[in-house]
Amino acid sequence: MANEAAAPQEVEVVKNCPACKKALKKAKRYYRNGHYYCNKNCWAKAQQAKQDEGQENNK
Ligand SMILES: [Zn+2]
Repeated sequence: MANEAAAPQEVEVVKNCPACKKALKKAKRYYRNGHYYCNKNCWAKAQQAKQDEGQENNK
């Protein structure tokens, strides 16, 4: 007998912004380069953080 209760339920995945670590709401999010951010500002922040990391590696 198939267990109907075991059917996969669709759970909305709440992602967090890589820049400010806040949970992203579906209606308010900024998609760029395969990632979600709160807004353009947070995206820019994340980009800057990435660049800083790369520069430290080049030292
Ligand atoms: Zn953010």
